[in-house]
Amino acid sequence: MAASIQSGGGFLQTKAGKAVAIGGAVVALGVCLFSVMGSLGGTGVASNRGNFVDAETGRAFAHTLVRGETMPVVSPYSGKRTGYLAEMCGWTRDGKVRSEPVPVLLNQAAGKPGPTFCPDCGRLVVANNPAAAEGMTPPPTESEYRAGGKGRAGEQPSARDR
Ligand SMILES: [Zn+2]
Repeated sequence: MAASIQSGGGFLQTKAGKAVAIGGAVVALGVCLFSVMGSLGGTGVASNRGNFVDAETGRAFAHTLVRGETMPVVSPYSGKRTGYLAEMCGWTRDGKVRSEPVPVLLNQAAGKPGPTFCPDCGRLVVANNPAAAEGMTPPPTESEYRAGGKGRAGEQPSARDR
């Protein structure tokens, strides 16, 4: 009994060692991909599974990047390479934290000029968009942004209620 477990263990160890090596290579590639995409407006998520937005239809979809895959990815809606990594917006229109973050396609990711505003709450969304949290100052809405520039978002008293 003990002997068979031992020999089985030895075999598994070899297999596990290979799996770890392959897994490590995949993770390294994934990290590499995401750091490249970070400069294009990636979320910097730790996993290879990300939220994407189809630039043609504006619809969001989850997608797991596979080895060697390049951006943009094939969208299930258009069937073409129009899927871009989405930024997640976690705010509501009144500056509260949203229970379910919304995937937003950055203009820069889609090759459009100008800042990106969330279609859900109308607030500024940037590359590597910071996650929303209670007590944080919400990003400016489009009108706030245009009226006061980037620095005016800190004047919202409602953000300090809690
Ligand atoms: Zn939003």
